[in-house]
Amino acid sequence: MPNTKPSPAKARKPSGENKAAGQGNTQLEKYFTDSLKDIYWAEKALTKALPKMQKAATTEELKTAIENHLGQTEEHISRLEQVFEIIGKKAQAKKCDAMEGLLKEGDSIVEETEDGSMTRDAGIIMAAQKVEHYEIATYGGLVTLAQTMGFNDAADILHQTLEEEKQTDAGLSEIAENDINWEAEMEGGSEKE
Ligand code: FE
Ligand code: FE
Repeated sequence: MPNTKPSPAKARKPSGENKAAGQGNTQLEKYFTDSLKDIYWAEKALTKALPKMQKAATTEELKTAIENHLGQTEEHISRLEQVFEIIGKKAQAKKCDAMEGLLKEGDSIVEETEDGSMTRDAGIIMAAQKVEHYEIATYGGLVTLAQTMGFNDAADILHQTLEEEKQTDAGLSEIAENDINWEAEMEGGSEKE
């Protein structure tokens, strides 16, 4: 029996060709729009959470990394607004339970570690990397869905954000490895308990 399903490569519109805004309202397009609303909420929540993380951090190095990513996060929000416009939908935020949970986890790390400790920075880095990985998974999926549906300009915009999230994740790994984790290991016991 011949396979009538188009291959993913065939389904993908040739680059340069862009679907017009508002054209088609398939289940997939609805899912795509809902996912945009979700990450739009998440990015907005991050602009509130990152300054708190920055304030709680011990080292200038981590504070600077968080500050830089706050600037990028604001840019991610405006890129999402561009994407909503391209697909002819209103920019709307819908609560993202996953991001809410990740941010709660970040808060409890700050509560459970001592002010001014390197262990706190090691913990904040891990919490921040969990956020970045969530964003990488989301933007990675959104880019391929946008390409599949022929929203090539939207895919390019989402791809820029995806790359920034990956760079941020790699930068955080570098800070942890040189040498916050080691310094946290050296700082010894806690007065709390
Ligand atoms: Fe982001
Ligand atoms: Fe991010």
